Amino acid sequence: MPIQTLNPFTKKIEKTFEEYSPTEVIKIINDVEKEFQIWRETNFAERSLILKRAAGILRKRKNDYGEIITREMGKPFIQAVAEVEKCALVCDYYADNAENILAEEKITTDASQSFIRFDPLGIILAVMPWNFPFWQVFRFAAPALMAGNAAVLKHASNVPMCALAIEEIFKSAGFPENIFRTLLVGSSNVEKIILNTKIKAVTLTGSEPAGKKIAETCGRVLKKTVLELGGSDPFIVFEDADIDAAVNTAVTARLINNGQSCIAAKRFIIVENIYEEFEKKFVERMKQIKIGDPMIPGTELGPMARKDLLIELDGQVKQSVAKGARILCGGKRLERQGYFYEPTILSNVVKGMPAYEEELFGPVAALIKAKDEEDAIAITNNSCFGLGASLWTNNVEKAKKYAEKIESGSVFINGIVKSDPRLPFGGIKNSGYGRELSHYGIKEFVNIKTVWIK
Ligand code: NAP
Repeated sequence: MPIQTLNPFTKKIEKTFEEYSPTEVIKIINDVEKEFQIWRETNFAERSLILKRAAGILRKRKNDYGEIITREMGKPFIQAVAEVEKCALVCDYYADNAENILAEEKITTDASQSFIRFDPLGIILAVMPWNFPFWQVFRFAAPALMAGNAAVLKHASNVPMCALAIEEIFKSAGFPENIFRTLLVGSSNVEKIILNTKIKAVTLTGSEPAGKKIAETCGRVLKKTVLELGGSDPFIVFEDADIDAAVNTAVTARLINNGQSCIAAKRFIIVENIYEEFEKKFVERMKQIKIGDPMIPGTELGPMARKDLLIELDGQVKQSVAKGARILCGGKRLERQGYFYEPTILSNVVKGMPAYEEELFGPVAALIKAKDEEDAIAITNNSCFGLGASLWTNNVEKAKKYAEKIESGSVFINGIVKSDPRLPFGGIKNSGYGRELSHYGIKEFVNIKTVWIK
């Protein structure tokens, strides 16, 4: 894939970048390694001060960065600006809390003293996706840098301006020039970078195939990985739920980020007794969505990020329909400028269809009827993915009981699945492993070291 900014709304190539040569990549990694040896000696107060400055830059220039995001991947500008603001929040969170989280832990043993230290590992390679081009990077980089690590970023090939802007933000904030570097390279170069002995660990946010490939390469050289992969998140509605609130959230949960979010609700599992009411209201609301120029205020759904992704989604819908799914609204590409797909609802979705088995990474909802609550939970767990789940019921105690049974990295009751710097984020099954955010996230890339003194 060429490294370029191709605006998915105008379909114009705005900028093309030359890929870094293997020699340039090695030189950058060597420079970062040298800087790491100095950075690891800095104290938390110094790191925190710089990270707070990064948060300040993000807040001050949120509109500029928001515009770059929208131009490169097409999400509504207002959502892009909110993404930048959230990056500032994660910087603040780790600037404020890293020292406490990573403080030495004293343990009583047979030693005169024994304790646990949390030491940095070195250079972390981050392979990141285009869908939240700022957030995904900051949520790994803020804890990694606060823990004393260094980082190199291989961003998705369609968001190079974001990748370079982020490098510049860290530099302007006062981080040493070589503590966070962007590598403008395509995915075919990732294996070689992982094999470089100066790279100590790898974090990937991306698709299942990319996760498998990276885990395999890291396995060969025994490097630690964190994998944040795809999902087919369930949105489960029980009979005793507030249906109107559930429908409103269902629309947002499916269409946020132009339908291209790992934790977007994708399978809507509704118990039989309220199925018809939910379906009717859901279709009505999906038909009202304002589609258009993502830079214009009021636009709720922009274009998909790339033509190949649009074609793939269209293929998944067509195959599901060929196997018996019914289109309740949408169901095709829009005849207009930009890579648009209509907000779509498929019903009669059953096992064996792409809409049931695969991740639908665009504005397409799969409606599934469940016989009762137990059946809804069984359908929920009958998936190779396990990222997030949204469960709707007015009985909180019952919800807590089902939360225990649901196979996913998070369960949100009567709310949209979302990430929060204070809460761990990640998946199980084919949605990946390891956690980002909270005190768990910062401990993924440290050496948890035991010290024992006689
Ligand atoms: P992707 O195609 O897997 O790309 C993600 C990153 O991996 C890009 O930098 C890409 O580089 C690189 N890559 C792709 N194939 C690779 C390979 N074989 N070896 C090494 N690197 C490779 O995913 P995407 O389309 O950008 O993002 C959408 C996917 O990410 C969805 O499945 C979504 O659910 C998932 N996601 C998960 C989370 C989470 O937190 N769990 C969050 C956001 C997104 P190039 O761009 O150069 O190909």
